Amino acid sequence: MESVNEAIASGLLPGRLWLYANFDCNLACGYCLTGSSPSAAPRRLGREVMLELARQARELGFEALGVTGGEPFLIDGMPALLSELSELLPLVVLSNGSLLVGAVLDELEVLRGRPVRLQLSIDSAVPAENDRLRGPGAFRATVEAIEGLRSRGLAVRVATTSSSIGEQDLECLRALLSELGVPPDEHVVRPVVRRGRARDHQAGLEVTRGEVPPELTITADGAFWGPFGPTVSGGQLATDLLVTPTILPLSVPAEALLELVQGRLPGEDARKGIR
Ligand code: SF4
Repeated sequence: MESVNEAIASGLLPGRLWLYANFDCNLACGYCLTGSSPSAAPRRLGREVMLELARQARELGFEALGVTGGEPFLIDGMPALLSELSELLPLVVLSNGSLLVGAVLDELEVLRGRPVRLQLSIDSAVPAENDRLRGPGAFRATVEAIEGLRSRGLAVRVATTSSSIGEQDLECLRALLSELGVPPDEHVVRPVVRRGRARDHQAGLEVTRGEVPPELTITADGAFWGPFGPTVSGGQLATDLLVTPTILPLSVPAEALLELVQGRLPGEDARKGIR
């Protein structure tokens, strides 16, 4: 079997390592994969562990990081931590945007010119439709966060998670993002996946392991096959996509995942657009 480094170079193993910074969130979206909410257990990875994982990821040949949650900006000092992580590898950070105001926005200026993109969520150009699943005021908060980030010269990406958005709504959303200065290739539209809270509501697409990109994903509870792995439904962590409970040294979960992806064809997971 080839090394992790060779497997990433050949494309067999995706080059992005995901870090679940935490599982708590100030919102409680209806389709949340991780069942996050203000009362969810935080299950934080911790600053030092995240930095060590990033150091080891670079040594193993990973090419990029993703930081997600929960809402990562519930953690004090997140902008400074992102800055340190970006000295090791380029990264994308997923956030609902609602905490990116005032002092946090100012702290984020440290990321200007660094290889960091902040990915925020808007699910509809119609505020009421967006807020129906994401909570009151979510649309306005995200738009204001995008404006605040863009005015500070920071790169913004937008994700739309919906299995039912209409063509007209999508056109309006694209026009809005254009006005906000988000380029078309920085807007991703993907379906709701029937895991986590979406499963509780019987919403979204059923997916099998083979339909989820095998991007190594590290949480406080272990390492998973992709960021769609560590989902929480009915308060229970799903373990069907758990690779190993060991997260450090990173070579242990990376080699375990590599063993699982042997024989996969490139693009095998692309059919349902899960990303
Ligand atoms: S989908 Fe994102 S913003 Fe919504 S509750 Fe889950 S972690 Fe929070």
